[in-house]
Amino acid sequence: MGNKYKILVVEDDSNISCLISTLLEADGYQAVPARNFSNGKMLYFSHRPDLIILDLGLPDGDGTDLLREVRKDSSVPVIVLSARTDETDKVEALDLGANDYVTKPFSSAELMARVRSALRTSVLHSGAGDSPDGTFTLNGLVIDYGSRRVFIDQSEIKLTHTEYDILSYLSRCSGKVVTYSAIIKEIWGYSDSGSVKKLQVNMANIRKKLGAKPGKKNYIENELGIGYRM
Ligand code: CA
Repeated sequence: MGNKYKILVVEDDSNISCLISTLLEADGYQAVPARNFSNGKMLYFSHRPDLIILDLGLPDGDGTDLLREVRKDSSVPVIVLSARTDETDKVEALDLGANDYVTKPFSSAELMARVRSALRTSVLHSGAGDSPDGTFTLNGLVIDYGSRRVFIDQSEIKLTHTEYDILSYLSRCSGKVVTYSAIIKEIWGYSDSGSVKKLQVNMANIRKKLGAKPGKKNYIENELGIGYRM
């Protein structure tokens, strides 16, 4: 089968590595396991996988270093696997270009959902990118980049200049977790002690205007302490 998605699994814990490979193969993916940093790097360049599942703590290096290598020439989706509860590691990995993260211990269903989502996003972006007419569409939400207007089910949503900029930026990164600092840098170009607060206030307004309801599936998810995902 030449059309299977190839997924590189860089994980030194053999139990977890076997589990992930088994799950992937069961869902019809081809798993390429690597047990350390150097092996992972070699297999990345020889296999050119469609997705990478990357453990951060490796015996001969840090997963983030492999991420840096990969991002030099590729936008292949990367899901970071982390046992660390420290949010700064996840934020660092996301700012380095990881698409998503899963914290150990994780459920099989959760990991596989992230895999599907990351692959879907990457197909979306490599295929169409921004659609030719310059609009973004997602479940009834339409963003018209040209006129800077936003609609839900054909009725216009009035956003402030800043709210629009934030929404537009998130939509261009849709499927990815975008960290607070990445958004702040994009929107305001600088960060000060009030930036996160300012962002949170704007986000609360955006989510309200988009009809966000707690416990429901919303356009923008809040990744507590990390950032937001469209
Ligand atoms: Ca590890």
